[in-house]
Amino acid sequence: MKVTVLGKSPSWQDAGGACSGYLIEEGDTAVLMDCGNGVFSKLRRYRDYVDVDAVVLSHLHADHFLDLVPYSYALTYAPRQQPVPVHIWPGTDNPARPELHAPRGARETFRRVVGAWGNDDLIENAFHLREYDPDAIVEVGPLRFAFAEVPHFIHTCAIEVTSSADGAGRLVYGADSAPATELIEFARGADLLMIEATLPRPERGGMRGHLTPAEAGEHGARAGARRLVLTHISDELGDDWARSEAEQTFGGPVDLAHEGAVYEL
Ligand SMILES: [Zn+2]
Ligand SMILES: [Zn+2]
Repeated sequence: MKVTVLGKSPSWQDAGGACSGYLIEEGDTAVLMDCGNGVFSKLRRYRDYVDVDAVVLSHLHADHFLDLVPYSYALTYAPRQQPVPVHIWPGTDNPARPELHAPRGARETFRRVVGAWGNDDLIENAFHLREYDPDAIVEVGPLRFAFAEVPHFIHTCAIEVTSSADGAGRLVYGADSAPATELIEFARGADLLMIEATLPRPERGGMRGHLTPAEAGEHGARAGARRLVLTHISDELGDDWARSEAEQTFGGPVDLAHEGAVYEL
């Protein structure tokens, strides 16, 4: 399984960056996990968007799904998706229509977003939209996605990705989460734990919804993750500071996600 980081910014992009998006490939199968703002243009550097089999979303915050809007426009209006020849494109009777596995309530959320300018069914027409049950498994070719609800400001699922290919490891993506034993249990023994480390310090008031780098390291240690990668972290926070905070609690080397980073497992 090959994981390419397309976007690791928090809810505002780094300079030249993108919000959450990870391309997962196994053989000919490709899945985009989260599709935050900026991710569609990053995806185009690494994979033809008509050759993505499915998109899987962790939750319905803008920084995890907003680029479904340009992606849907591409699937709807791109010349090669049309039934007649245009320019170098021969025309097709079978335009690409990837699966879209999204949390409950997604259809209504998407309609409200694109309905703001009267395009209510844009996303559901461009993709095969399915709202997943967190207790169910989503299978796409050899890839298998399992979910665990984690505490965040809205319904959110951490995602486990495994593969039926020989020797493939186990990826756990923590999505956005407050400190949570659920996340530690779900990530137990992961070969690679991609975990958000958005906050410089814990939230000062209200409910918790994110992790600091030190908390992310502690979660990785308690889960016994073999490899820990911090993500969803701003370029304004300082890589060296974040890494050293996380390494102290993890008790070993920690990576910081950056766009274009590739992990094989
Ligand atoms: Zn969020
Ligand atoms: Zn987020």
